[in-house]
Amino acid sequence: MTSREHPQEAVVGAAREMSARGLTRGTSGNVSARVDAGMWVTPSAVPYPAMAPSDAVLLDLDGRPLEGRRKPTTEWPMHAAIYRARPEAGGVVHTHAPFCTTLATLRREIPPFHYMVAVAGGESIRCAPYATFGTAELADSAVEALLGRSACLLANHGMVALGASPKAALDLATEVETLAELYWRALQVGEPTLLTAEEMAQALERFRDYWTASQ
Ligand code: ZN
Repeated sequence: MTSREHPQEAVVGAAREMSARGLTRGTSGNVSARVDAGMWVTPSAVPYPAMAPSDAVLLDLDGRPLEGRRKPTTEWPMHAAIYRARPEAGGVVHTHAPFCTTLATLRREIPPFHYMVAVAGGESIRCAPYATFGTAELADSAVEALLGRSACLLANHGMVALGASPKAALDLATEVETLAELYWRALQVGEPTLLTAEEMAQALERFRDYWTASQ
């Protein structure tokens, strides 16, 4: 979020951009931004091209509606659980991005087949065990798979990413979808060679320097 941007604009802007980047189709996926009172979330069942900042809904982290005329996304418990568990999260993006979701239906994590896997904070991008959409079980499953990471796949469902803002979470989701596509492509030909723990530790070290320098 830029300092002049309202959180509702940041949420809906990231949601529309998520659709424009091909990370979601139809009305699936949702975006949120943390604020003092709780979180602004995207509405349920509003097509992205038609979505306006006034469609966003303000909820507290227990899901109580505070502002907005729309029905909030059914995945609000996952967003709330991530904000509770991760103080650094200012934005969360959840999508059914095609390549992430393909791997998630195979219940495969993204292993260290490329150094960019470190962009999500660890040597793999985990796949959270399956739970019914919109439930506290799914929220818990996601939070656990996100331990020490900023993104994970959700078995037989999609993926979720967090960042300092909705835009940062969206950019990470885009990186992860690119990695999922590359991994999927490599699997069509064979089993990609994985980087060693030492090679990934070096990549993570470089990312840490980069993150520190860019703050
Ligand atoms: Zn979903």
